[in-house]
Amino acid sequence: MSEVSTNAQFDYDLFVIGAGSGGVRAARMAASMGARVAIAEDRYMGGTCVNVGCVPKKLYVYASEFGKGFKDAEGFGWQAGDAHFDWATLRDNKKAEILRLNAIYERLLETPGVKIIEGRGHVHNPNTVEVNGKQYTTARILVATGTWPFVPSMPGSEHMLTSNEIFDLEVFPERLLIVGGGYIATEFAGIFNGLGSKVTQVYRAGLFMRGFDDDVRHFLAEEVRKSGVDLRFNTNPASIEATQNGYSVTMDDGSVVDVDAILCATGRKPNIAGLNLEDTDVAFTEHGFVKVDKDFRTAEPSIYALGDLIGGPQLTPVALEEGMAFARAQFDGQETNVDYEYIPTAVFSQPNVGTVGFTEAEAREKFGEITVYRSEFKPMKHTLSGRNERSLMKLIVDKASDRVVGLHMVGPDAGEILQGMAIAMRSGATKTDFDRTVGIHPTAAEEFVTMREPVSN
Ligand code: NDP
Repeated sequence: MSEVSTNAQFDYDLFVIGAGSGGVRAARMAASMGARVAIAEDRYMGGTCVNVGCVPKKLYVYASEFGKGFKDAEGFGWQAGDAHFDWATLRDNKKAEILRLNAIYERLLETPGVKIIEGRGHVHNPNTVEVNGKQYTTARILVATGTWPFVPSMPGSEHMLTSNEIFDLEVFPERLLIVGGGYIATEFAGIFNGLGSKVTQVYRAGLFMRGFDDDVRHFLAEEVRKSGVDLRFNTNPASIEATQNGYSVTMDDGSVVDVDAILCATGRKPNIAGLNLEDTDVAFTEHGFVKVDKDFRTAEPSIYALGDLIGGPQLTPVALEEGMAFARAQFDGQETNVDYEYIPTAVFSQPNVGTVGFTEAEAREKFGEITVYRSEFKPMKHTLSGRNERSLMKLIVDKASDRVVGLHMVGPDAGEILQGMAIAMRSGATKTDFDRTVGIHPTAAEEFVTMREPVSN
């Protein structure tokens, strides 16, 4: 094993592999603290989030909501006329925006003096990274290469698209099959349904969105179905055949679905191919994620890893937090102190899901005695729009401490509403604090401070 050293015998103090959310944040913070930093990236500045994840996804969610909006408007007296959607306009406007963001990321790195190297970094030894045949010595290596879509093998699986390709299709898929029941599958079901595709979403077990609160999962399934997605549980593709006008997918229950495209959203695996980590002491979890300690150090003392690659929540703000904490610890003498409790998350499904803290089942297990508050209602806007969509809000309270330990929402703007709620929850807000907080009327969010009658104890 090598010893970590920071002296001038190395070309760099820090060599980052992967310019995604975590890598860029760590590199630019470290450089701004005076470290000599290089970063290698083989694909695109900003990583998954900026290029094929959060950012383009949110733009497409906006695009997909207009169709329903035009219909909603009629109940408010607007006659919008015939609206039609042009995929190429959305796709190409999105491309231009992402190029703008790529340039911003480049500037963010260059301004504090980070050296950007184009190409796939390869760990030559614990203090040397090789890119395009050239070797760079470094006191520390930070691996922040994220994850990559996982596609299960089956006859014809090569015909499946992933979230890497779906944004830039040449031709809009009129009929789309989506495989999976997690974040990506459910968000894209809403997007393409909203843009006008006939969407079939299939999930292998009895109820999708595993890991979320059961009420949220049931409620969302109902809303997604009402929105027009053909959502099927307990079924999975068994084989795919290319046909003259698309693909014929045979499911494991014997049914056949004919579509123009298939999106596989069955999770993501660590993106470590070609990094040569296996020739170091870096250790892996049973699912192939890189094992690190609380300072993001691997079993090889000069090699660190953070972001999606280490198997925690695969969320950009978590990677950013980790990148910042890493730089502060290495170059500013601070304690690494990333807190993984009460991390809020939103699924930009239609309607949105927002969640922070424990599910009802987790809370029962952890705290024993809990009180549950739940409210279901039709959003005010839909009293006139006529849209058949309902919202759900749920609070879970630890009886002993009165602390709100779980907060869940299905409904418009859940992501926006949850951010503020997460601050309260992290600060240890009790149900009494919620009750004492004056609502903002008329909003959906006020429901969180006006739920008085528990549904169960
Ligand atoms: P998820 O883990 O959310 O979902 C994967 C889905 O695929 C699950 O329903 C899983 O089922 C299913 N699955 C896994 N293996 C198979 C298989 N062999 N055959 C059929 N189905 C399978 O992963 P995603 O790919 O949707 O997203 C990856 C991560 O990216 C998310 O976990 C999230 O952290 C992040 N993300 C965050 C977003 C946000 O913040 N809004 C948006 C998009 C992604 P099962 O539950 O039964 O295992």
